[in-house]
Amino acid sequence: MNLFEIVKYGVSCRDAAERYGVEVNRYSMALCPFHNDRHPSLYVADDHYYCFACGEHGDVIDFAAKLFGLPLYAAAQRLAADFHLTPDKPPSAAALHAKCVQTEAPDERFIEACHNLDQTEYYLDILCTGDSYERAEVIQQQMADGELDRLRRRLEKIHKEEIEDGYDTADVA
Ligand SMILES: [Zn+2]
Repeated sequence: MNLFEIVKYGVSCRDAAERYGVEVNRYSMALCPFHNDRHPSLYVADDHYYCFACGEHGDVIDFAAKLFGLPLYAAAQRLAADFHLTPDKPPSAAALHAKCVQTEAPDERFIEACHNLDQTEYYLDILCTGDSYERAEVIQQQMADGELDRLRRRLEKIHKEEIEDGYDTADVA
């Protein structure tokens, strides 16, 4: 990327306007610095600006050039300096890096919990609202296929894992 591209991608018109003292309101309008503006006539988008009164328009580099009376290249240099952009550190790479926040895969225990929640609610429903026969059936079924034993072993294993992972704070204190 050349300097113009780096600045265009790295600095929005709005950021530049505000940095150079042009206050942009929440409707993206500002008092136009290019004519004697009494009501905000300057529309400031991210990638361009346009004045409805005097017709001045352009991108962020045009903005700085016009504002400071600089040639375009000098305006781009000034923006690069003010916003700490260098060819070695293109903004797209920096922005990418910022967006590339490590999203860790969910803990497998969380997935397991989600998976088990439906089933648990189903059984809870029966245990809470079912008649005695239905409740007995659930308990019997859970005991019969060793589900309760399996659950107990699983919980013990999870507890052990938590201690290894440092989740268990009881011992730390
Ligand atoms: Zn204007």
